[in-house]
Amino acid sequence: MGQLYDKLSEDVRFREGLKACIGCGTCTAICPAAEFYDYDPRILATTVQTKNDEQIEELLKGDFIWYCGECMSCKTRCPRGNTPGLIISALRGLSQELGYFVESEKGRQQLAIKRTVGKWILNHGYCLYPSEINVQNHPEQGPVWEWMHQHLPEVFDRLGANYQKDGPGIFRKVPQQALDELKKIFEVTGALSRFEKIEEFSRQKAEEMGMQFDEGIESEYFNHIYTTNNNQHNKK
Ligand code: SF4
Ligand code: SF4
Repeated sequence: MGQLYDKLSEDVRFREGLKACIGCGTCTAICPAAEFYDYDPRILATTVQTKNDEQIEELLKGDFIWYCGECMSCKTRCPRGNTPGLIISALRGLSQELGYFVESEKGRQQLAIKRTVGKWILNHGYCLYPSEINVQNHPEQGPVWEWMHQHLPEVFDRLGANYQKDGPGIFRKVPQQALDELKKIFEVTGALSRFEKIEEFSRQKAEEMGMQFDEGIESEYFNHIYTTNNNQHNKK
C-alpha cells in the first residue's frame, strides 16, 4: 500500500466514498461533470483503488480532480455504495495539504476561490458579496454590471433587499457574533490553516513562475490563474 493511499485512508470521506469499485460506469452515466469535462468518475474510482502512489500523485497534481461539481448524484446510483464525489473531496484536501494543487491550471485556481468566496464568507457571512467583486474580472457581464456595482444600495433597495442593514432580509448585515462563530468553525475544522497553506504554496508557485504575488485580487499571479484557460478541459 502506498503512502499517499495511506494518507487518503485517514480521511473519513475517503473511507466512506470508496468501498469496492467494479468499474461499471453507472456513476459516469449520471455525472453532469462527465458530460462537459474531460472527466470520468469511474476512472477516478478504479485508479485510486489500485493504491498505486504514482497514479494517485498524478491525480493530485492534475486538473482531473477539480472538475467534479460535488453534486453527489453518483452516491445515489452506485451499485457498490461508492461515492466518487467524496473520494474527490479527500483528494482535493490532500492536494491542498501537500501543495500539489499548484501544479495544474484548475488546481491553481484554489487561490482565487480562497480569496473571494472563502474571504467573503469569513468577513461577511456570504459566499458572494457584491461590493467586493472586481468588475474587471467579469467582462462577460457587460457595462450594466459596472453601473450596478456603482449603485448597489439603490439597486438592492429597488429589489426589496435589506442590503448591509440590520434586521432580516436579503443581503442583511450578518451580526458580528455570528461571524465570530463562523470563524471559530473555520478554525477548529482546520479550514483556516488550509487557507494559509493555499496562500503559501501559491506564493512559492508565483515565485517559481516569476510573477508578482501580493494580497488581494489584482496581482499578476492572481490575474494569471483567474484568466488562463488552455482549452484542454472540455470533453473531446
Ligand atoms: S464507483 Fe460505483 S458506479 Fe462508479 S464505476 Fe465504480 S462501482 Fe460503478
Ligand atoms: S459528485 Fe462529482 S463525480 Fe459525483 S456525480 Fe457529481 S460531479 Fe460527478
